[in-house]
Order: sequence, then C-alpha cells, then structure tokens
Amino acid sequence: MATYNQEKIAWLGKVVSIQPRTRVWRYVTDNRTHYHIGYNLFFNGTADGAERPFIVAISEAQQQSGGFRIGDEIKGTAWTKQYPEREFADYYRAGALKVLRRAPSMPEQNPPPWIMELPDMQTYEDRGARMLSQSLWKTKCFQCVWASMSNVEIIWDFDKKISKYRFESFCYGPKSCKLYKMGRPRSVPYKGRSSALDEGWLDDLCTEGRDYDE
Ligand code: SF4
Repeated sequence: MATYNQEKIAWLGKVVSIQPRTRVWRYVTDNRTHYHIGYNLFFNGTADGAERPFIVAISEAQQQSGGFRIGDEIKGTAWTKQYPEREFADYYRAGALKVLRRAPSMPEQNPPPWIMELPDMQTYEDRGARMLSQSLWKTKCFQCVWASMSNVEIIWDFDKKISKYRFESFCYGPKSCKLYKMGRPRSVPYKGRSSALDEGWLDDLCTEGRDYDE
C-alpha cells in the first residue's frame, strides 16, 4: 500500500457542498457497517498554492462551532494524506478555520436535493444508508445533505488482516426521494472466492428503522 509523508498546507476557498464523512466496513455480503466520523467540505479555491477544487475533512465539533454552509468563504490549514486510497478527502486534520465571508442563509427550496442545515452524526447513524448511483452523487445529489462518499474497507483475508480499499457513494435520505437510484450492484471480493454482490438487501437492513417517507 502506498504511503506518503504528510505535510501541513494552507487552503482558502468557497464551499460548494458539505457532506457527512463516513467509513464503511465490508465483509463479503455478511456485514456492511457504517461509521460517521465528521464532514467533508468541498471547495473551489486554492490549496497548497494551486487553484482547483479540493475537499477538506473536518470534525463534527468543528462543523458545529463554525456553522459552515454552502457559499461561505473559509480559510484554514490541513494535512495531506498518509494513505490516499483510504481517504476520499484531499486533506484532513484541519485547523485554524476562519470564515472570511459568510454566505446569506439558504433560500427555502423544494427538495430534492435537501440543501439545509446539516444533520448531526447521530442522525446519520440512526437513519442508515442505501447505496447511491455514483453518477447521481456527482450531479443532482452533490449538494444534498443526505449524500456521502464513503471510505470503504473490504476485508480480503480476515486471518491475515489484509483489506482492500475503495470509495462508494451512499444516500441517507428518504426512501421516497424521487431522484434516488441505487446504481449497479457492488461486488465485494474475498480471497479465493468469486465476488459476492451487494445487490441492495443490505440497504434494507441498514435502513430498516425508518419508513418510506422518513
Ligand atoms: S437520492 Fe438521496 S442524496 Fe440524492 S437527492 Fe435524494 S435524498 Fe438526496
């Protein structure tokens, strides 16, 4: 696995989306466990001296104290990644967060997508997630508070503690959302076996605590 030396960098940009930062643990199709660890701020701006889109991971406490929202201009510091294939955000361990210009509060809009005050981690945990088509995640769902791109660990050899890593898109929103599409079933490889397919029944299990319209 590639590892990189970490560096502290400075960044500045305008928020274009905020999504929960999540980690998913997969073990064939017997287990899919979601962990809710903070938020990813998606920016257009400048990071480490280069102008481009970038993503900064922050904690739940940082989001709660900063009250960040789409359109805010923010600056801060963060660290580059040690294991790029394990972390979807470009930078994490963010610090010195400062709002340079606050966006006007969000105008009322008719969802979907849900562009509103961000739910806390417990809310995501309680709701559970369904797989979301990656192309929807990139487009119509990108600013929805219920969309997430997860850091996924797939157990490849349980005894030798070997894992594979990838990123997967999920939706925590109402099952009745008219935009929702699962996308293709996802293969979950395991050493020496043909890949099992996550075809959606784990979604039912992960979201069994809520009704169609919740
Ligand atoms: S499918 Fe999910 S992420 Fe997309 S708009 Fe609907 S609730 Fe939001």
